[in-house]
Amino acid sequence: MEQLELLWRLQDLDLAIAGLQEKIESNPLLENVRLAKEKQGELQSTLDRGKEWQAEQRKKLKMMELDLNKLAADRAGLHNKLYGGEVSNIRELELMEKRLVSLGREQEALEEKIIRLMEEVERRQVELEEFKGQVKRQEQAVLGEEDKLERELANLGLQLEQLQENRDGLLPLIESKYMDLYRTQCQRHGGKGISRVINDSCSGCRMFISSAQRGFLYNPNSIVYCENCGRLLVRLSDSDNKTVDT
Ligand SMILES: [Zn+2]
Repeated sequence: MEQLELLWRLQDLDLAIAGLQEKIESNPLLENVRLAKEKQGELQSTLDRGKEWQAEQRKKLKMMELDLNKLAADRAGLHNKLYGGEVSNIRELELMEKRLVSLGREQEALEEKIIRLMEEVERRQVELEEFKGQVKRQEQAVLGEEDKLERELANLGLQLEQLQENRDGLLPLIESKYMDLYRTQCQRHGGKGISRVINDSCSGCRMFISSAQRGFLYNPNSIVYCENCGRLLVRLSDSDNKTVDT
């Protein structure tokens, strides 16, 4: 294979390698993993807040139950005192009776409050259990996305390895002065310093190549640059001209 043709193949490989590296570094599946994890984090913190709320309410319920016990005990004590016959002062008895009624009301109100809170806690507990299922499912979704990414990266990694191997095989065939030429051209033209001639035009800038230059192109060893864009022109054999242009 002629040196210029080798340079064209090298550029082809380098472009493919750069494309693959880009695909690996900013793979769209990375974003899927990030989004799935973000959602998982949100669900988890909602769950944590829910659990915290439940724990607080249960503590509150316990306190209320203690208050209720105390109220009931106070009420029973007062009841005994009132009807035990120890107190005979009418005024005092009246006060005790009033106090007994008020304690009864207090107890009732507290009992109602406890029942309402217990119902609320139970209702929220059912919701929380359902929500735990949602968090579990999201954890699975994250694992699924991570798995997809991993497989994609493994696949791209293999492709990259193959291209690197091809490149390593090509390098020893290229003479150093052509390699220097390649580097300079690629630096000047953003990695695309070699341009194929297709239908007598430069495939880099689509400009028609003058007949004077075309003559040189038939000599495989002549270095010809596109007069318009400055890329190094390579004329491949006819069979290669049928391959897809990059
Ligand atoms: Zn050109």
